[in-house]
Amino acid sequence: MLENIHKSIDQLYPEMVEIRRYLHQYPELSFQETKTAKYIADYYEKLQIPYETNVGGNGVIATLKGGKPGKTIALRADFDALPIQDEKDVPYKSTVPGVMHACGHDGHTATLLTLAKVMKQYENELEGTIVFLHQHAEEYAPGGAKPIVESGALANVDAVFGTHLWATLPVGVLQTAKSAFMAGADRFEITIKGQGGHGAYPHETKDAIVLGAELVSQLQQIVSRRLDPIETAVITTGVFQAGNAFNVIADQAKLIGTVRYFNLDIQKIIIDEMEKIIKGICISNDADYKFDYIKGYPPLINHSEEAQIVLDASKDITEIHTAEETAPQMGGEDFAYYTMEKPGAYFFTGANKDGNPYPHHHPKFDIDEKALPIAAKALIGAYFHYQRSGK
Ligand code: MN
Repeated sequence: MLENIHKSIDQLYPEMVEIRRYLHQYPELSFQETKTAKYIADYYEKLQIPYETNVGGNGVIATLKGGKPGKTIALRADFDALPIQDEKDVPYKSTVPGVMHACGHDGHTATLLTLAKVMKQYENELEGTIVFLHQHAEEYAPGGAKPIVESGALANVDAVFGTHLWATLPVGVLQTAKSAFMAGADRFEITIKGQGGHGAYPHETKDAIVLGAELVSQLQQIVSRRLDPIETAVITTGVFQAGNAFNVIADQAKLIGTVRYFNLDIQKIIIDEMEKIIKGICISNDADYKFDYIKGYPPLINHSEEAQIVLDASKDITEIHTAEETAPQMGGEDFAYYTMEKPGAYFFTGANKDGNPYPHHHPKFDIDEKALPIAAKALIGAYFHYQRSGK
């Protein structure tokens, strides 16, 4: 059956490209993707595959129940675009000013829709159930994955797989990781409230710049002196705003930054240590503070056995010449919520177009569409290998 499925996927390549290019021309921003959601729902309507709309927001979930018993596996594709002006010179360029599919989510959607069309033909022989999970709002926290999980959409799912077309990897390469794959990414905002005054009379003030400078320096010591050196984390203060005159002592300083990590226990230690340091500096200087820690997506941790299933499945795909484990990436991805809920694995499908050097989120970002059928084969391959894994 797998060989025939591969043939059917290849036959649908023109349609895959057509869908991808259509979506590319009509991108929609995170949480506003209603037309894209309708396009997806209409496609399942035509295929006569049952589906649900408005799952956790704009999410669309279609369920293809095979004629034979087996496991239920969700395959996920996201479908939102970015606030970027498309600067490519191609016929399928975005028609929406300032909005662009600059991360390949149009390709993810085209891949999953055509895969559903193929699998509908094999419905009766199919073991188990395929859940086609079309997720809105990956690009903007709190994202679409969390409300989709909270809606109970994964309750009957045994495992979940997803892929990202990866423009900096050559076509024919697949990468995954057996544990941490993408980082947790949070944001913090600290306001130090001192007391302003004349630059010549510091003893009558609480200098917010001096306290802020001490804070920046002490925050650096969380990673270097308070965390186990085997753990990976980053604390970056990207913004320091204070003062506006040469002879005036600033009454306030604002620090904004990001925290990256691969382990939720480390996240907790970092938050606690940050609070202690801020409090300590302010208490000893009679100053006040406001500390906001805004949690983004948690780290994406793959399950080892499911990642191995992806690697094994790729051996059946002639176009994949390299399937390998890779080091964790510092970028974030809300697929994290799925692997926190159920066993699963996320992987990259190489999609570099003719050496195009522009990375994800760049105005000249593009993908090689030849990667689409490969992504479809890898996803359905993971499905079949999971069915046979005896899990
Ligand atoms: Mn993306």
